[in-house]
Amino acid sequence: MTPSALIFDVDGTLAETEELHRQAFNETFAAEALPWNWDAPAYRRLLEVAGGKERIAHFLQSQPDGAARAVGRIAELHAAKTGRYTALVAAGATLRPGVARLIREAKAAGVRLAIATTTSLPNVEALLGASLGQGAMTLFDVVGAGDVVPAKKPAADIYQYVLERLALPAARCVAFEDSTNGVRAALGAGLATIVTPGIYTEGDDFSGALAVLSDLGEPEAPYRHLAGAGAADTMVTLDALGRWLESA
Ligand SMILES: [Mg+2]
Repeated sequence: MTPSALIFDVDGTLAETEELHRQAFNETFAAEALPWNWDAPAYRRLLEVAGGKERIAHFLQSQPDGAARAVGRIAELHAAKTGRYTALVAAGATLRPGVARLIREAKAAGVRLAIATTTSLPNVEALLGASLGQGAMTLFDVVGAGDVVPAKKPAADIYQYVLERLALPAARCVAFEDSTNGVRAALGAGLATIVTPGIYTEGDDFSGALAVLSDLGEPEAPYRHLAGAGAADTMVTLDALGRWLESA
């Protein structure tokens, strides 16, 4: 059964963007003379909170002093961070292996494409424009991003929002994720889920995923099979997805 639609998470799944996000947060704090710097281990813990505004708010709760002056400025800080991030992405973000290949294959076959992310819409537009070129957004039939649903991942709401707009049952679609929160959201919406762990999510719990792979694979650079379906394949293709869905 060839899937009718592929639904992609953005950060960590389409591209390894989390280091650019971390850099943008830290540059924003420095520019605002706020005494915070998120190192990689701290950011790994903060990534358990989905959504940039939610992440800042969560961090402020852990700060005994110095936080009060920023509590009312979360939206402003987040907007400034988004501006820095989109500039960093435009200057040089590349998609993970196999992503552009699978998107092209799906588009050519009439399989619909969608985005389901908690990141802000300008971040999505910046990444896709920089990596897939002008008009990249039009490749996607539905883009669910940012605050279109109040409950962020691991809640299933963003996937349910996208499925409603695609007007497809979850059983006809496949989700692509890189994190525990993302997998829980996709599984909660009833979606078969392919996981490609990223630099911040290696070792996460991906229970229930259809397959866990190092990446989506390229003809000259096969993926490493980590768990679930796909052990006999080398690349995620529409044909492979169809077989994996049928055997699940
Ligand atoms: Mg992600």
